[in-house]
Amino acid sequence: MHDFLKRVKDSYTQDEFLAIQYAFDFATEAHKGQFRRSGEEYITHPIQVATILLDLGMDADSIIAALLHDVIEDTHYTFEDITLKFGIGIAEMVEAVTKLTSIDVKDVDREKEEQAENIRKLFIAMAKDIRVLIVKLADRLHNMQTMDYLPPERRIVKAQETLDIYAPIAGRLGISGFKSKLEDLSMKYLFPEDYHFLSSKLGEQQYERMKLVERIRDDISQEIDDLGIRYEIKGRPKHLYSVYKKMKRQNKTLEEIYDIVAVRIIVDTIKDCYTILGVIHSKWKPMPGRFKDYIASPKPNMYQSLHTTIITDFGQIFEVQIRTVEMNEIAEYGIAAHWKYKEGRLTGDMTELDKKFSWIREVMDVQSDLKDSTDFLEVLKTNVNATEIYVFTPNGKVVNMPVGSTCIDFAYHIHTEIGNTCVGVYIDNKQAHLNTVLQNGNVVKIECSSASKGPSRDWLNFAVTPTARAKIKSFFKKSMKEENIKLGKETLEREATKKGCKLPDLIKTNALKIIFDKYSFNNIDDMYASIGCGGIRVSQILFRLIDFQKKLEEENKPIVTDFSKPVPKRHASGIIIEGYDEFLINIARCCNPVPNDEIIGYITRGRGVMVHRQNCPNIKNFEKERLIRAAWNQDRISSFQAPIVIESDNDGTIIAKITNIIIKMKLSITSLNTHQTRNRDKMIIHITIEIKKTEDIAEVINKLLTEKSIISVRRANQNA
Ligand code: MN
Repeated sequence: MHDFLKRVKDSYTQDEFLAIQYAFDFATEAHKGQFRRSGEEYITHPIQVATILLDLGMDADSIIAALLHDVIEDTHYTFEDITLKFGIGIAEMVEAVTKLTSIDVKDVDREKEEQAENIRKLFIAMAKDIRVLIVKLADRLHNMQTMDYLPPERRIVKAQETLDIYAPIAGRLGISGFKSKLEDLSMKYLFPEDYHFLSSKLGEQQYERMKLVERIRDDISQEIDDLGIRYEIKGRPKHLYSVYKKMKRQNKTLEEIYDIVAVRIIVDTIKDCYTILGVIHSKWKPMPGRFKDYIASPKPNMYQSLHTTIITDFGQIFEVQIRTVEMNEIAEYGIAAHWKYKEGRLTGDMTELDKKFSWIREVMDVQSDLKDSTDFLEVLKTNVNATEIYVFTPNGKVVNMPVGSTCIDFAYHIHTEIGNTCVGVYIDNKQAHLNTVLQNGNVVKIECSSASKGPSRDWLNFAVTPTARAKIKSFFKKSMKEENIKLGKETLEREATKKGCKLPDLIKTNALKIIFDKYSFNNIDDMYASIGCGGIRVSQILFRLIDFQKKLEEENKPIVTDFSKPVPKRHASGIIIEGYDEFLINIARCCNPVPNDEIIGYITRGRGVMVHRQNCPNIKNFEKERLIRAAWNQDRISSFQAPIVIESDNDGTIIAKITNIIIKMKLSITSLNTHQTRNRDKMIIHITIEIKKTEDIAEVINKLLTEKSIISVRRANQNA
């Protein structure tokens, strides 16, 4: 038996095996007498493509379609023949992978046009069955692996198309193995010199790198062996093209790229991920700004993992990725994991998948409006590759900007002085706002004025590139003069007195925090200086301060409840409800009471008793007669989830510090979610901690507050 069929026999049911074997024999017969450019029998190609899909764990239908994928195109068998023998489903998959016309090698323009039409056809079929695209990717992968036999000019065209279209598609489908292989192979033909230089250079360093990985692995093991967590550590160099791209993008030499090796730690549960993160951060110094929580916020292609970059004692910088076994499968197989684990863990049906791959829909929606396939290809390219846009200066110079960049970013990108003195903008000859988000292909003309006093504070609210933000901030730093601070403070004091308030009463940490966030001030002097130099109106600040104080006063009014009835009777989930035996008890999400909090029950319509904290702000909206006495049953309390919200400076290492503190207290984190404030100066961190007793919360909060960069800590939804 052919080796391929032996493997199939091991991995599929008997029925599936027989079906695949039938397709195997049929394809072998159909391609008989045909040869590839390499001189091999043609059938070796479909078998290789099917093998790639076998490795990926795809279903039997996909394997069959792979075996048959060139039959309609290259043999006398037709779509109808395939339908009769294998059914309409398989026939449609094969038809979709089949090219439209044979390509005229001499005419490159026409070849491009036909490629565009072929891809469009592929996408239409794919909207019905995404497996078509996976088969096509496998086909392309094997063709790229055997491309040495093509004439040189065709190699370039194919490699470019692979890099522009197929590799990004593989990336968007989350099939990272395909993506890196396709990119490396494309690079080999498009930038042969760089490719060979880099691969030999990386080859030379391989031994050193492996030693390094060993060392890091040992160090990490030492730290986590005692935790009783099951884990696996892998160290793998990043693929060639990603290193190359980084060198180009950051204009660095190979020696300057530090994260060529990433260390991956695979564990069983999400909780373990965060525990290990905490351990790693307490042992090594994390690099500021490099922590990414893709568990809390997965990438659009379903990728989940924690990423952090650390600096070892011996000065080596490397990236650590922490994820569960399942997350690791999805990271490697992406959408293909859906078929791999159809019987197992991943059970989402196609509508679920569809939601995750809404970009396919978007592309399809656009394609119906486009008559020309080449246009469609452009849309596809920008959709699968959406991290950068291209805009133009009025004299036609192309400028590369990150997606989401605004006119302000553009102005600073051109020149600091242009940024500092810009007063207006024209996009495609139409006047626009400076905060307009740029689109691919925009022609952007910035208007400057020598009379400009400099950037405006609120530009920080919509400047997204680090360069622009840094330049705006440095402008304000310079303009922050002593006299402005003094003048600003005096003005604010005077205006406050006019309104009958005292400035010291108004300037409470929390109130200031809101203002700092809103106007991107770093400290109170910043605020005074800005008032002093007229950068902001004093009434704007004063209004917010007074407003905040009013709110605070209202929230602190106690809620009075009258308990005249006798002591409670019955318990469930650690809570005793007055006078009722059988009650469904729920913990209210809005205030999340934990043991020893003063609590109160609310009899809902149909959802049992909802237990709130007595000071929950929602209670005042409830019908009074439905409120009912509740208390904790001390014997029954086990553990509780306590959600906490932390506001902190955005210093990059804050997550490490927080996880550290919590883990040192021997508490577990059950979820962690972070986001930056709009001006990116501050971080809001939502963290849920599993606690056993109320005092734990107070202790956690106190410990967290000792951390310098933390601005405030509160229990979630308390004063929301
Ligand atoms: Mn093929």
